[in-house]
Amino acid sequence: MKSIDQGPSSATAEPSLGLLGRLSDIDAAIRGGEHIVSHCRARLATPQPVGRPATTTEREALETDLLSALARNAERQAQRRALLAEMDATLRLAYEELHGRGLVPAIIQFDGNGACGGCHLRVPPQRQVELRRRGALACPHCGRILYVVAGERAASPGAGRRSRPLEREA
Ligand SMILES: [Zn+2]
Repeated sequence: MKSIDQGPSSATAEPSLGLLGRLSDIDAAIRGGEHIVSHCRARLATPQPVGRPATTTEREALETDLLSALARNAERQAQRRALLAEMDATLRLAYEELHGRGLVPAIIQFDGNGACGGCHLRVPPQRQVELRRRGALACPHCGRILYVVAGERAASPGAGRRSRPLEREA
């Protein structure tokens, strides 16, 4: 039988981890929005772009894109503030410090290849065990917040939260 592993709206068991995932998504969306904003501003600030000047229609389109990107980012900033307000205080401080130092993304899903997705240095095995047990951990090298999703935690060996059925050997 195939099991379809979609996981019902995550946040059932680990609200804080669902929160980190949501925050990570919102951060990525904000960065995408900022990219659009700076692109539009750069184009609008250049009256005679090399090659082909922007037409009035193009300028209007750029202005529309700029305004909608700014509006969407304002909404996302509000969502981020709401999530940060729910966040564990220690993690929030770490998050704010990382942003202050420009270490973004500050929150990274640990993908199980053993390395931090930010600094690409290897997380020591005992810290990986701790990460899977706790669900989130600061990278010992760069301090970025690494997290694992609930499904991976349950599936990971050594999580040891409940007794597992005996493993068969082939
Ligand atoms: Zn790191």
